[in-house]
Amino acid sequence: MSEFDAIVVGSGFGGSVTAYRLTEAGLRVCLLERGKSFPPGEFPRSPHDTATNFWDPKHNLYGMFDIWSFSSLEAVVCSGLGGGSLIYANVLLRMPDDWFVNEKADGSCEEWPVTRQKLDKHYDRVENMIGVQEFPIGQHPYSETPKTLAVREAARQIDLEPELVPLAITFANPNQPAVPGVPIDGGENNLHHKPRYTCRLVGECDIGCNFGSKNSLDLTYLSKAKDCGAEIRTCSEVRSLERTDSGFFVTYKRHPEGSRHTVTANRLILSAGALGTPYLLFRNVSAFPGLSTALGQRFCGNGDFLGLVLRAKSHENGTVSPRILDPSLGPVITTAMRMRDKLDGGTGRGFYIEDAGYPQFVNWLIDGGSQRTLVLAGRIPRPRLESNRVEGLLHPAKRNHAVHRRQARLQLYRKPAMAAQHAHHRSSARRSTDGTAPGRGCSK
Ligand SMILES: Cc1cc2nc3c(=O)[nH]c(=O)nc-3n(C[C@H](O)[C@H](O)[C@H](O)COP(=O)(O)OP(=O)(O)OC[C@H]3O[C@@H](n4cnc5c(N)ncnc54)[C@H](O)[C@@H]3O)c2cc1C
Repeated sequence: MSEFDAIVVGSGFGGSVTAYRLTEAGLRVCLLERGKSFPPGEFPRSPHDTATNFWDPKHNLYGMFDIWSFSSLEAVVCSGLGGGSLIYANVLLRMPDDWFVNEKADGSCEEWPVTRQKLDKHYDRVENMIGVQEFPIGQHPYSETPKTLAVREAARQIDLEPELVPLAITFANPNQPAVPGVPIDGGENNLHHKPRYTCRLVGECDIGCNFGSKNSLDLTYLSKAKDCGAEIRTCSEVRSLERTDSGFFVTYKRHPEGSRHTVTANRLILSAGALGTPYLLFRNVSAFPGLSTALGQRFCGNGDFLGLVLRAKSHENGTVSPRILDPSLGPVITTAMRMRDKLDGGTGRGFYIEDAGYPQFVNWLIDGGSQRTLVLAGRIPRPRLESNRVEGLLHPAKRNHAVHRRQARLQLYRKPAMAAQHAHHRSSARRSTDGTAPGRGCSK
């Protein structure tokens, strides 16, 4: 008999929602996550710890940031309990109704088999589990967040209505006004048993929130899964998958010691991410004779474009003065404007423009740093970034000529940057792989 009813590989949005719902339904679930657990307060902040916060086991690095490089695509994904939710920007947009289509070459659209109406009840459930709140723009001190005000003002200037995006962040306790840095009611009821505090507006969402204000998956779905009896094994990287008469035989490597372990189950759920899952499948093709030849093909980025607003200005009573946007004040993203597309009365493709901030220490580097300071602070030893081999990922026929390794670059800017803007393209919403997107996670 198998030890478990189901093995779930990976603890990002796909894995944690699945693990919870299966455990809740009474199945014996084992979740295997290659990365470490990062309780609030344990996300690295010092220069040394940050420089080693990368995923590269060959160089004894077991940190969060896993950088993949392909010939025309580079991707950052997260390794850790909670997957991408540890570093994502907390935005849980529902995809607009009109975008549930495939555009054809002749410009016509083909409806998807699933509609927004069908998904709404699942969106509701996920938002309820994760705990969505809006940025409390109507209240001090939130009402003075310069980057948010600037995006809202810009939207109105081009006749668009700015919207507050649903965020997986706790700003306020239930039925209380929002206050930065107060204990979250029942906050310590999580698998780390660590207290949590409301958002302190420090712009650190993308490097892990040390105050537990971000409602990441370890603090939500995975804590619930554990309460229901799921077995969660961190530092456990799945390497090989074999079939048995009654299910699957999975071998994983424990980090950092390197010991190998096995586990069996009747069902296997691969939720190791858009890159991690195909990688695992290619390593184990013999266990899956029916695999499609399309595996490993037709990848694209998630459609996000980052831009920096430089030398912003205020125009008042005929006077022009510098406009301080203070990108480190607030969570990374607070607000958006939606550019209409041809499906809803505009022209071209639709997308969202959002504000985007970064942590205070980046501000110091950008505003005050000499070139040497920037180079030193941004230096990541070359081997760490180069060592992520991707040869195994693409379809075997395409490997030799389609893939090459390239050093990922950390770009830092010397000129004063006032705020970053983040355009969330329509294709991004379509392909979003977070728990709110079609076909991902919202299992019941
Ligand atoms: C900086 C940043 C900001 C983002 N902001 C947003 C946002 O605001 N809104 C939004 O909708 N999306 C956002 N995203 C995208 C979002 O994070 C991803 O779409 C989402 O995390 C994908 O979920 P997933 O479950 O498919 O994979 P992941 O979240 O990547 O989870 C996969 C998990 O599998 C683990 N794993 C991989 N291989 C193995 C193995 N062999 N054995 C065991 N475990 C393994 C990984 O360590 C990881 O924990 C952002 C992404 C980034 C990088």
